[in-house]
Formats: sequence, structure tokens, C-alpha cells
Amino acid sequence: MHPFALSRADDPAKAIAAHAEDPQLAFIAGGSDLLGLMKDRAALPERLLDINGLPDMARIEALPDGGLRIGALARMSDVAADTEVRRRFPVIAEGLLFAASGQLRNMASMGGNIMQRTRCAYFRDEDPLPCNKRRPGSGCSALHGFNRNHAIFGWSEACVATNPSDVAVAFAAMDANVIVRGRTGERSIPFTEFHRLPGTTPERDTALGQGDLIVAIEVPPRVEGRASHYLKVRDRQSYEFALVSAAAGIATAGRRIRSARIALGGVAHKPWRLTAAESALRRVSLDDIDALKSAIATSFTEARPLAHNAFKVELAQRVALRALETAGARV
Ligand SMILES: Cc1cc2nc3c(=O)[nH]c(=O)nc-3n(C[C@H](O)[C@H](O)[C@H](O)COP(=O)(O)OP(=O)(O)OC[C@H]3O[C@@H](n4cnc5c(N)ncnc54)[C@H](O)[C@@H]3O)c2cc1C
Ligand code: SF4
Repeated sequence: MHPFALSRADDPAKAIAAHAEDPQLAFIAGGSDLLGLMKDRAALPERLLDINGLPDMARIEALPDGGLRIGALARMSDVAADTEVRRRFPVIAEGLLFAASGQLRNMASMGGNIMQRTRCAYFRDEDPLPCNKRRPGSGCSALHGFNRNHAIFGWSEACVATNPSDVAVAFAAMDANVIVRGRTGERSIPFTEFHRLPGTTPERDTALGQGDLIVAIEVPPRVEGRASHYLKVRDRQSYEFALVSAAAGIATAGRRIRSARIALGGVAHKPWRLTAAESALRRVSLDDIDALKSAIATSFTEARPLAHNAFKVELAQRVALRALETAGARV
């Protein structure tokens, strides 16, 4: 194990300043991703700053306008069990419950979850294989290697990895915002802009920089929130990352869709919103399966499967349809 020094933060401003000034310092919350990365030598920080003692960051608040504010230090299991989260946004509760294991969810924080790094086996391998995310400029072993679990949307020659977070898919579908405090104050990052596409700099996963602390995730009131569902397909039924997943929420007039929100997981370097499908689904009847399928297909013209993952193109459309139908049954 890589040796490191551990200290504890009790003041957000000091924690942010320490992080901004020291590129070898990393925040640690539950440690369930960071310590694994350190064991695999994919992250080698010299100093860890435990942020669990920072005040007011573990609260889950049901806002009067119908939205939610979820503290970055709230545990996944607490958020999944919260009655207002379950009532207002079942898609978020389900995105959490289908992730990891009970023990991990008790330990893992919401901020850490949306910051977790890819599960690309080449990136996580203890042996130093070419990986541009791990060592920029070394190449991408997955591009022409075994890429069954990799991206079909938005990838680049530099990296074809996918984002592993389940709840991030639900947040992207519901247009959540990540509330970040830095040296110059607080800012709100739309969830769909929080994670990056790989481009030529796959080593950067998110819009955050040194000295940025996630304090909360805010979910605006959404009429599509209550009739929403998260569906995850994986190689085994428990304790496994998504092969493909979908978060869907809808509002209807009778049986016709007034508005739909759909995002996919397991298909890109970030949660992938199906914006073309969302437009095409307006006014479609929930009983017209062929029309629902055609509307979803409009978002797949830009799919670019790799050598081993062409099956994801069909699977993702089926998962999106099923998630939408289940959301429809909750109207
Ligand atoms: C075996 C296993 C199976 C798993 N299965 C799933 C799954 O199916 N679905 C899923 O979604 N997840 C899964 N996970 C991932 C798990 O959900 C994450 O490891 C966890 O959510 C990370 O939270 P943490 O608090 O432990 O983060 P940490 O490990 O403490 O931190 C992770 C990263 O986030 C940064 N960080 C933490 N908090 C903040 C903050 N407030 N501001 C800025 N940066 C911060 C840290 O510096 C670090 O870089 C699995 C993990 C394991 C080990
Ligand atoms: S897909 Fe990305 S993470 Fe995986 S080997 Fe290629 S560069 Fe590394």
C-alpha cells in the first residue's frame, strides 16, 4: 500500500485552501473508491484530508418547492431510505439501491459516488498497461483490446471508458446541480456538465479543479420526478456495475407523454442524456410501443460501438423503453 499521511478537516475554508495549495493532497470521505485506487496504484496521493467532520454536509433536505438538497457527505444508504427522496424522486432512491452492497452504501458518500473513477480494467490494473487516463500519452489499451464494457457514445481515440456511477444517471435525467465551494466562493454546475467527455484529456473526469469541494447536490422540483424509474442491467444480479442502465421520468396527459427525461449509464464517459428521444416522445401514447421504440431510436443514430460492445446499442434501447414503461405505470 502506498504510504500516506492522514489529517482531519473541521473547517471548509481551511480544507479548500489546503487542497488548492497541495496537488498531492486528496479529500477522503468513505474511502471506498479512493483506497481501492491507491491499492491498485492508480492514485498515489501523499496526504489524505478526511472531510467527514465538516459541518452541515450530511443533511438531506426536502425543499419547500418540491426539490431536494442532498449534502455531499450524506451516505448512500441514508439517501436511498429517505421517505421524501423515495416519494419525490424514486429514480434517485433506486439508482442508489441498485449500487454496490449494503455495507458499501453505509460507508460511501454522495460526493464520493459522483467522483468515483472508471472501472475500465486496464485503468485499474496493478501492472502498468498503456492507459491515457492513468498516464497521459501512454495510449489506450481498451480501444483495440477487450472493450465489451466500454462506451458506445462520445468516446475518443484517447479513451473509451464509461462512468460507473448509478445515481449520477438519475441526477443527469432530473437536471440536478452540483454545488461546489472553491477559493472564490460557491458555484452551481449543471449535472450534465459535471462529468466530461474524454476528448484528448481523459485524465480529467469532471469539471472540478484543485481547491474544489462538493458541498451538495440539488435536485430542482420536477413534475417527471414522481413517475420515474431506474433500471440497471448487469452481468450478475447483485454487487455489480451496470452494463447498461436507464433513468427515466415522465409526465402525461391521459396516456400521452407530455414530457420525458431519459439518461443512460454504462454507455459513455458521462451519464448520457437522450435529448433527441425526449423531444420525439412528446405526445406519443404510452400504449403505442412501436412509436415509443422509434422515438428512442432517434438518439441512437450517433452510437459508435466498439469491437466487442455492439450488443449495447440494442440493449440500451430496450432498457430505455422498459424504464420508460415502468415510469409510465407510476403516473
Ligand atoms: C466492490 C464495489 C462495488 C461497487 N458497486 C457500485 C455500483 O454498482 N454502482 C455505483 O454507483 N457505485 C459502486 N461502487 C462505488 C461506490 O459507490 C463508491 O466507491 C462510493 O460511492 C465512493 O464514495 P466514498 O465516500 O467512499 O468516496 P471516497 O473513496 O472517499 O472518494 C472518492 C473520490 O471522491 C473525492 N471526494 C469525496 N468527497 C468529495 C467532496 N465532497 N468533494 C470533492 N471530492 C470529493 C475523493 O477525493 C476521491 O477522489 C462500488 C464500489 C466497490 C468498492
Ligand atoms: S478506456 Fe480510458 S481508462 Fe480504459 S485503458 Fe483506455 S484510456 Fe485507460
